[in-house]
Amino acid sequence: MGSKKYRDKTCVYCGKEKSSTTGDHVIAREFFPKDARQNLPQVPSCVACNNDKSFIEHYLLAVLPIGGRHEGAATAIADQVVPRLAKNEALVRQIEAGRQQYFVLDETRTWSSGMITPLDGGKRMKLACLIAQGLAWHHWKIQLAPEALADAKQMKAEGVRHFRGEISGHKAGEQVKVSLGNGVFQYHGAYQRTNPKKTIWEMSFFGGVEVGPINMRGESTRSVFVVTSNEREWYTHIQGTNNQG
Ligand SMILES: [Zn+2]
Repeated sequence: MGSKKYRDKTCVYCGKEKSSTTGDHVIAREFFPKDARQNLPQVPSCVACNNDKSFIEHYLLAVLPIGGRHEGAATAIADQVVPRLAKNEALVRQIEAGRQQYFVLDETRTWSSGMITPLDGGKRMKLACLIAQGLAWHHWKIQLAPEALADAKQMKAEGVRHFRGEISGHKAGEQVKVSLGNGVFQYHGAYQRTNPKKTIWEMSFFGGVEVGPINMRGESTRSVFVVTSNEREWYTHIQGTNNQG
């Protein structure tokens, strides 16, 4: 906080020039166990974007770890979920009402079962978009906002294969594949060589959280895919290919 390095710069999230006041942790520190919070990516952010993002992060910290498959999820449940839910009875009722058993066939064609975590999926998708904007700047100094749109999706198995192909494909400029906090948050991203504002990402929290809506039962929904572009045509093309809502 307050580091000069992040002051009076373009806000990575809204693109407003000279508006940044702080370094925002692209993936909030609270997602990670206390001993794994060093050297997390930070980017310049304005007050409004920082507050909006914190609001979404605090909601997700109260629910997301419950469905996590990673051992870090257990730490997050103790550190984040329990105290947050203790203060929010309405959210506890919503979670209890929405939990259900699932069986999924994942991308390795193995079945597994567990509990679906009821979640405001829109908030998870919104955060994934913000994280993609932050990571594009962190790794490559690519400023996406305000020209480039971002959209996040979860995919059925076929979509997952397609998107992974796009990330590793021949059009990719530079790729990054990173695991933070021993896998608490993982991402794989690339930008397009001919237009760096076209970026594409796969990311997962806590080893992948099963949140599948009913229409995706039987399919893996553990990662989120994000696409950004300043060219609407490309954006709708890639979305249309595998749009699973
Ligand atoms: Zn901003």
